[in-house]
Amino acid sequence: MSEDAPVRYEVRGPVAVVTMDRPDYRNAQNSRMTYALDDAYYKAVSDDDVKVIVLAGEGKHFSAGHDIGTPGRDVDQSFDRRAVLHWDHTNKSGGASRMAREAEVYVGMCRRWREIPKPTIAMVQGACIAGGLMLAWSCDLVIASDDAFFADPVVRMGIPGVEYFAHPWQMPPRFAKEFLFLGERVGAERARELGMVNRVVPREQLEAETFAVAEKIAEMPAFGLMLTKKAVNQCEDLMGMRDGMDSVFGLHHLAHAHNAEVGSDSLAGQDARSMRDAAAKK
Ligand code: ZN
Repeated sequence: MSEDAPVRYEVRGPVAVVTMDRPDYRNAQNSRMTYALDDAYYKAVSDDDVKVIVLAGEGKHFSAGHDIGTPGRDVDQSFDRRAVLHWDHTNKSGGASRMAREAEVYVGMCRRWREIPKPTIAMVQGACIAGGLMLAWSCDLVIASDDAFFADPVVRMGIPGVEYFAHPWQMPPRFAKEFLFLGERVGAERARELGMVNRVVPREQLEAETFAVAEKIAEMPAFGLMLTKKAVNQCEDLMGMRDGMDSVFGLHHLAHAHNAEVGSDSLAGQDARSMRDAAAKK
């Protein structure tokens, strides 16, 4: 693990593997990692020999979500923006800063990655929490090990779900409410039943299964795969996902602003430790 290189990239035959590499922090996603992921995806899209992209997390956990408390947290840093056309957030304050940043590094990036013109597979083990869901959900397939679990506990911060609000399209709406209201962990098998996960395999078979699926997909013609991906994504958007997400992004920022107005920060005083302690109490 190197804080300068939070993502590894390798190509194995027709499959590019993009690996989040901050295992000491359960791959908590700071902006540096976000842009490193984007660089890796860009490389994979540009390489004609790559047909399928696998997104992986080093270590015991896929992703603990957005970095809200490691020494590498970098919310106040400026990066070369590329997901949306917006101003730099670092010399603005309040909503003008927060919304610009989250439009770029959260919703904008996840949408950009969802539209990658090659099939993507999230290979998920251990925790896939809050911001981690966005990384998995923006992939086309999700293959999980039997020890994987999924949760979006941000209602504890008074926030109606993570920024990339795909919940009612990733699972039935009634369960999406339970998932958010309780913030509890949903195991891999239950996630598969709900339609959020394609396959569940024992932990030791996760990599082999994921690559077997990736290599099989890679036998299909690249243009056909691109059109097929676009076809399903377009229909998902016709089912309201894109507009729904935009409207909920406003509610999300109302919550951040409310927190900042009545308290001392936009996360209702919560940090990684308090969120973990609350989860452990159950
Ligand atoms: Zn937010």
